[in-house]
Amino acid sequence: MKQVVIATKNKGKAKDFEALFGPLGYEVVTMFDVAPEMEIEETGTTFEENAILKAEALAKELNTIVIADDSGLAVDALNGEPGVYSARYAGDHDDEANMVKLLENLKNVEDEKRTARFCCCIAIAGPGFETTTVFGTCEGVIAHEKRGTNGFGYDPVFFVPSLNRMMAELTADEKGAISHRGNAIRKLKEQLPSLIK
Ligand code: IMP
Repeated sequence: MKQVVIATKNKGKAKDFEALFGPLGYEVVTMFDVAPEMEIEETGTTFEENAILKAEALAKELNTIVIADDSGLAVDALNGEPGVYSARYAGDHDDEANMVKLLENLKNVEDEKRTARFCCCIAIAGPGFETTTVFGTCEGVIAHEKRGTNGFGYDPVFFVPSLNRMMAELTADEKGAISHRGNAIRKLKEQLPSLIK
């Protein structure tokens, strides 16, 4: 089976990538498999900067083609926050605390103003070609309370109007069909069909 290396140690993201790349015939390999000790600091101030620095750091280390995503939630009523700081909004990768903080910050915001989007920048880097990025988004509304147990991160508070369900109520395949990450990967596939061998 062909392999695709993803610069992540986030198990939720890895699952999303497996659902998206599996049907294309690729086995997803993550940093748990190839660089478990390596830490890549996300020092960028945009999704793009962080995706590029993660993809290039691991590609250099392994001398192979690597895909990295940097993603997060942008809430209109909070001027785009938590944005690139989504994983660290309340605590380091503490999904529960992050959602509590988000709902608290939005508690006086009426329904029509609770619009938000998930954003994902994917970078692909490797020996012999210039790093390329693609961007995907997914529009939604922040609910007043959590619902659903699938997915990860802010999925239980992200309502998807087009499906009339919370992101955390979708199966991995349903999420992949409409998600920011799925949309970015579809763009990547269109633009770079020959890069991942
Ligand atoms: P990153 O590892 O810096 O890209 O952090 C991404 C963070 O954004 C995650 O830890 C989540 O808090 C949030 N996030 C990104 N994608 C998703 C998603 O598909 N569902 C829910 N939360 C997400």
